[in-house]
Amino acid sequence: MLIDNHNRVINYVRLAVTDRCNLRCNYCMPEEGIAFSDRKSLLSIDEMKRLCNILVGQGVDKIRITGGEPFVRKDLMKLLAYITKLEGLKEVSITTNATLIGPHIEQLEDFGINSINVSLDAITPETFHRITRRDQFELVRENLMRLIESEIAVRINFIVLEGQNEEDIYEMLEFQRKHDVRVRFLEEMPFNGGSRNFRNLNWNHRKILEHIRGRYPDFEKLPAPLTSTSVNYKIPGHTGSFGIIPSFSRTFCGSCNRLRVTATGDLITCLYGKPVANLRTTLRSGLHDSFVEEALVRAVGSRAKDGFEAQDQFGPIFGSSMTSIGG
Ligand code: SAM
Repeated sequence: MLIDNHNRVINYVRLAVTDRCNLRCNYCMPEEGIAFSDRKSLLSIDEMKRLCNILVGQGVDKIRITGGEPFVRKDLMKLLAYITKLEGLKEVSITTNATLIGPHIEQLEDFGINSINVSLDAITPETFHRITRRDQFELVRENLMRLIESEIAVRINFIVLEGQNEEDIYEMLEFQRKHDVRVRFLEEMPFNGGSRNFRNLNWNHRKILEHIRGRYPDFEKLPAPLTSTSVNYKIPGHTGSFGIIPSFSRTFCGSCNRLRVTATGDLITCLYGKPVANLRTTLRSGLHDSFVEEALVRAVGSRAKDGFEAQDQFGPIFGSSMTSIGG
């Protein structure tokens, strides 16, 4: 079992399978994209399978596949077919912009994917285009509806962006009034690939909640696991629910149970810190799995207490893009 130097059990890994994305969300990347990694430096599917095996052997029971956009990676389904059968892995989930998922939905259900987070920061085609710089709102909406009707649990992640989509907050709540989906409102973070200047955060978790209270005063707090990053609520009579994630305020670090591995094998022990090791080098060195295990144990043995300490310890990484970190 992986236990960090603050006595937190690490059982959840977010694995990015690519740093490429087919959208250009203005809070994530500049319009022209970033310097994407060349193909050879990405972990191969076999390397990822091996890594997942090692992680599960060390007590990881939840893996979330992310990116870039995970479905940009053509061989993604091979990885999913494999890891969804791994004994000991209780949950496989995916974070996606839902543009390319359409042809795979049935197979994802067959694989037994537990949950899918759809990143969607707009409820109208105009706002969607303004934020993502692409015209794919209708496609995303169609795929989202198919996902909601499927066996897979669906959540919508909506980043509250000052001056860009605040008017869609109530519309999103109307959406979960009718549909069985949890809409999670997230604070914007300063990982934008240099696409925008990040000023002080105005729409923090408190302001988001107060804004919601203005229209829906009767919401009730829902119970949540200790390791949950979102505080969740239900509005009486609504089919779905909503949550708020203080991703910039970082109020949840005390129970953080997660590691991140980027598409190039960088191991990140805190979203606000720099990579602490590169696992690709070890995976490709011809060495036994125990060397990868040792690298993981070493990394979790010196984790920052929280995102603020990580930021101080490692120097600000603000300006890097979430497309290479995986969110
Ligand atoms: N392409 C996939 C998607 O859209 O979900 C996975 C990768 S994307 C980088 C993961 C998440 O990071 C998305 O929900 C996106 O909204 C979020 N994200 C990107 N930049 C962000 C920022 N500056 N602040 C907060 N969240 C951000």
